[in-house]
Amino acid sequence: MSEDHMTADVLVVGAGPAGATAAEHAAIRGIDVLLIERKRELGVPVACGEFLPTAQEVRRIFPGAEDIDALRRVPADLVALETHKLRLYSPNLRLYEIDFEGFTTFRDRFDRHLVANAEKAGARLVTDCSFFSLEDGVAKTSKGDIEAKVIIGADGPLSRVAASLDLPKNKVLCPALTAYAEGDFDPVPEMYFGGMAPGGYAWILPKRRGANVGVGVSPRFAREKVGEYFKKFTDSREMSIGRPVGKYVPMGGPVRPNFAGKGLIVGDAAGHVMPVNGGGIPIALICGRIAGKAAADHVLSGTPLSRYADACRRQVEGPLRTALRTKALAGLVWGSDWRLGTAMKLIGKRRMGNILRCKSLIP
Ligand SMILES: Cc1cc2nc3c(=O)[nH]c(=O)nc-3n(C[C@H](O)[C@H](O)[C@H](O)COP(=O)(O)OP(=O)(O)OC[C@H]3O[C@@H](n4cnc5c(N)ncnc54)[C@H](O)[C@@H]3O)c2cc1C
Repeated sequence: MSEDHMTADVLVVGAGPAGATAAEHAAIRGIDVLLIERKRELGVPVACGEFLPTAQEVRRIFPGAEDIDALRRVPADLVALETHKLRLYSPNLRLYEIDFEGFTTFRDRFDRHLVANAEKAGARLVTDCSFFSLEDGVAKTSKGDIEAKVIIGADGPLSRVAASLDLPKNKVLCPALTAYAEGDFDPVPEMYFGGMAPGGYAWILPKRRGANVGVGVSPRFAREKVGEYFKKFTDSREMSIGRPVGKYVPMGGPVRPNFAGKGLIVGDAAGHVMPVNGGGIPIALICGRIAGKAAADHVLSGTPLSRYADACRRQVEGPLRTALRTKALAGLVWGSDWRLGTAMKLIGKRRMGNILRCKSLIP
């Protein structure tokens, strides 16, 4: 097999958390899996807050998700800092402290760890390889043609695989910027709401040393570019920060349908992000595993790929849809700091904790 014409049972496009997990769980079944990644170096630059809920919290958020523990075995050296609370600040800096178990990680090494798991399971990795399109069922890439029985698009929020499969695009893309800040920080993650990050929030997520600092905004409410909000936020705290890195966060909920022909999409490509907080890694892992299994079942016994959509619906989509409804309600107060502050006061910290966990505002 020459590099300009490759074959595989399953082609996975994108070696982020969703693609690496899908590749691992397809390869475990003994089929031939090819994982391609357009970057030359995996995991960098880091465009992520690097915060993860513990397995226990993920179970609370997605009670329908299967065997979370197996997915969430994170080696100790990838835990930057364990945290037990979240501090939420209203626009007038009123503090709401919520119990929430989580940790910050080193996202570059975290992604490489997941890809190493996929390779251990037998998946082949090709880096510096961009997917362009699907023509007559053949994937056209920067390293030549790839023929596969199933293609998994785990290529992020602007997925080319989704477009090639004629699947819908992510409806709401929110720009976010993040950077590493040096210095000493309280060991509690902080989220700031209001005019400094319209429709989103600014964050300080402490690591073992320093912190991950960032801002995400909604294009519906932001009047300036996200970089301006980021600069104001970091300037106001006189932080010593590194170069900010930006990316879109798909905040419009799960894309439907998420499969077509011989392909399916997963992770950010499929809108697998919690619309109330922008967290996507836990869902990328849950749905990555579902995608890998569904692709392997299709190759080995012709099981329809619609099983993938059914399992995503069962395991994660209920809480994501609840969170979308809450987000729509929040849209009523986002435009005014006074309204947002008053709403936060009325909602109170217990219910804010529920909202962050994708629960309904009114149980
Ligand atoms: C600023 C910011 C902060 C965030 N903070 C958090 C957080 O603290 N916690 C959390 O849980 N989530 C966070 N998220 C969301 C989280 O990063 C994503 O939900 C998660 O990375 C999704 O994983 P994925 O594998 O679907 O996509 P990605 O991680 O984006 O991986 C997609 C991969 O596909 C590759 N690719 C793209 N196009 C092609 C192509 N054409 N050919 C080949 N390869 C391609 C990319 O290079 C990339 O490696 C944050 C997002 C942003 C932008």
